[in-house]
Amino acid sequence: MASFTERVFSGVQPTGNLHLGNYLGALKRFVEMQATHPCIYCVVDLHAITMPHDPVKLAQATREVTAAFLACGIDPVKNIVFNQSRVPEHAELAWVFDCVARIGWLNRMTQFKEKAGKDRENASVGLYNYPVLMAADILVYRATHVPVGDDQKQHLELSRDIAQKFNNDFAARITETGHGDAFFPLPEPLIQGPATRVMSLRDGSKKMSKSDPSENSLIALTDDAETIAQKVRRAKTDPDALPSEIEGLAGRPEADNLVGIFAALNDETKAAVLKTFGGAQFSTFKNALAELAITKLSPIRAEILRYAADPGHVDRVLADGGRRAREIAGPVMDSVKDIVGLIR
Ligand code: ATP
Ligand code: MG
Repeated sequence: MASFTERVFSGVQPTGNLHLGNYLGALKRFVEMQATHPCIYCVVDLHAITMPHDPVKLAQATREVTAAFLACGIDPVKNIVFNQSRVPEHAELAWVFDCVARIGWLNRMTQFKEKAGKDRENASVGLYNYPVLMAADILVYRATHVPVGDDQKQHLELSRDIAQKFNNDFAARITETGHGDAFFPLPEPLIQGPATRVMSLRDGSKKMSKSDPSENSLIALTDDAETIAQKVRRAKTDPDALPSEIEGLAGRPEADNLVGIFAALNDETKAAVLKTFGGAQFSTFKNALAELAITKLSPIRAEILRYAADPGHVDRVLADGGRRAREIAGPVMDSVKDIVGLIR
């Protein structure tokens, strides 16, 4: 297959306060990827309207997520930071992909089932179509690598299927228009580290989510030290001491979750954490975890507040990023039109 220039793309929805799961599963990884790749990081506002939303809060949350990107250390000059709706090619390519993706593929998507809940007939068409727009987000930049949390694995597989089917369906045109044997790369998910799926602090079987109504289920990046300590102390656990080996975490989702969070925050493995804390009671471990979380998150919180006080700066970052993103997305969309046979 044709070789593609390596490029990273990922997005975060402006659906509420960012939390520790978003940080460890996504933002922290976004920052790391900057050292090795050109990166495009997007506040995916078009995804946020797939569920009922308040327009005033959406605009506010878009600026807040952008502020969090910057606060975590994403460099918007070296890389591209923007909000999705600024670049119409995302929605345009999504329509072409709607005609490539199969209904049977979308029917298998578990995020739709979870978010639509019992009243599926009443969910928006956009919520159903969410993974197709996500494929367009990635592929309109012909991105090759996508750092995400574990919950997005299935959507990434769908993106690969769409890219593959487009390349197959239009193989002859792709060659004729000078793009070799493949127009889109098959984007690779980067789901790595000890905290790819941070669980709710109240329920070890549920993912930590922005949209979770229980405040105590998550640690927000804007929580102050006192709140973080309180939430860690109140996190659900079991009565046993911590094991010394990884195997001892089997069947103990809450313990596994807290150990994973500690490991990810401290850039070590779960095995290393258990080497230190094996045999300790949760009270001891939770104190250490609270202290570590406060040490790592407080500087980010301070930066978020600083950026939040300067919405003009945030808006300039988004405008500049949007302009630069379009410089890449526009020509890709032009080529897609040529390949598909749409006169321009
Ligand atoms: P929502 O509840 O609105 O879907 P969310 O918390 O799932 O919000 P998203 O904006 O959907 O956040 O996801 C942004 C990124 O954060 C994605 O890469 C996603 O995989 C990652 N992510 C979300 N939740 C977690 C989690 N609990 N652990 C690790 N990564 C996560
Ligand atoms: Mg989500």
